[in-house]
Amino acid sequence: MDFTIPEELKQMQAMVRDFVENEVEPFAQQIEDEDKIPEHLVAKTKEVGLFGMSIPEEYGGIGLNMLGRCVVLEEMGRTHTGWVSLVGAHTGIGSTGIIEMGSEETKKKYLPLMARGEKIGAFALTEPNAGSDATNLKTTAVKKGDKWILNGMKHFITNGPVADLFTVIAVTDKEKGARGGFSAFLVEKDFPGFSVGTIEKKMGLRGSYTSEIIFEDCEVPAENLLGQEGRGYATALKILSKGRCTLGARSVGACNKLIEMSTRYAQQRVQFGQPIASFQAIQWMLAEMATETAAARALTYQVAWMVDSGMPVIKESAMVKMFASEVFNRVVDKAVQIHGGMGYMKEYPVERFYRDARITRIYEGTNEIQRMIIAGQLLKEMGA
Ligand SMILES: Cc1cc2nc3c(=O)[nH]c(=O)nc-3n(C[C@H](O)[C@H](O)[C@H](O)COP(=O)(O)OP(=O)(O)OC[C@H]3O[C@@H](n4cnc5c(N)ncnc54)[C@H](O)[C@@H]3O)c2cc1C
Repeated sequence: MDFTIPEELKQMQAMVRDFVENEVEPFAQQIEDEDKIPEHLVAKTKEVGLFGMSIPEEYGGIGLNMLGRCVVLEEMGRTHTGWVSLVGAHTGIGSTGIIEMGSEETKKKYLPLMARGEKIGAFALTEPNAGSDATNLKTTAVKKGDKWILNGMKHFITNGPVADLFTVIAVTDKEKGARGGFSAFLVEKDFPGFSVGTIEKKMGLRGSYTSEIIFEDCEVPAENLLGQEGRGYATALKILSKGRCTLGARSVGACNKLIEMSTRYAQQRVQFGQPIASFQAIQWMLAEMATETAAARALTYQVAWMVDSGMPVIKESAMVKMFASEVFNRVVDKAVQIHGGMGYMKEYPVERFYRDARITRIYEGTNEIQRMIIAGQLLKEMGA
């Protein structure tokens, strides 16, 4: 197996690392304090094309394959999660549907704007009574003439208050339910009957907004049906499955940063007359952090390669999401421990990473659901 990153991608990696270090990191504390991504940073992120990383070149994006996206998102994962979430949700779950299943007409209409970051994307599946059980959707879409009329409510939607275009999954045939009765729609925030509801107050992810979105006789043009009528559940699963690889890369990036911060701190902090890095207890934590991160990285890149090779990755992408997020949580816990009391103080970014890591085991399908997917596929493969 060849693990070399292609030269062109190395340049992109260097560019993103430089951007993260010089343009984002200096504002990380400001994002945390103000719960807002500074406008100039959003503008610069657009300028360097990051909003278009997953959009094909013919529609104005950079057109990175999964390996390329993982390389970029690993670098992005080193900095403030709020900024990464804005871009990550847009380039992932917020645009995968239209890239993979959109009609030529909708692609031409939306993708160039999305590539430039002029239209921000979001994905809306979850409802108050349909979280892990996404088959229990209540939002309906009824065809009336040349429009679909949507009614219902979604919650916990990343980018909800700032997005312009939502990939929404709704019930089009109650009898059939998830088996042929759900459909996907592209809903613009300016369509009549669309509104943003409560914006959630969260444990972390400051600067990234999560909200309800509400449909009250919301009018969606017939051409904004995404993919085939009745295929909405499969569409949702496909979008989520693809995104899992990039979540792995983001977790690995955060781990890399935490290992660097912890190693540096351990070398500088003196107790009992010597740097704490000289104590075996600290060295073992660093060794475990580095080893687990390397394993998460290897799995992430292997699955990215499988995606790019057109292989099925239902089981493997669930493994990446589950494993990398749990490594992230273990690594950040050790990072706090190595920093001692300082690790608990807002003065050090490890405190922020600690809170931000927690969500990675919950969103885009909890890790219990990932385990169910992995085991389900295993049993299927063995003919059970
Ligand atoms: C910050 C944030 C951002 C999000 N962004 C988006 C978004 O952009 N778009 C979107 O559509 N959704 C989004 N979500 C929703 C997210 O995907 C759901 O929260 C998640 O799928 C879990 O659903 P739930 O919160 O309803 O928990 P529940 O489904 O109520 O689960 C509660 C607990 O029960 C467990 N559980 C449930 N069923 C089983 C089972 N069969 N076996 C074992 N354990 C089980 C779960 O694993 C969990 O531990 C976001 C959520 C958050 C918090």
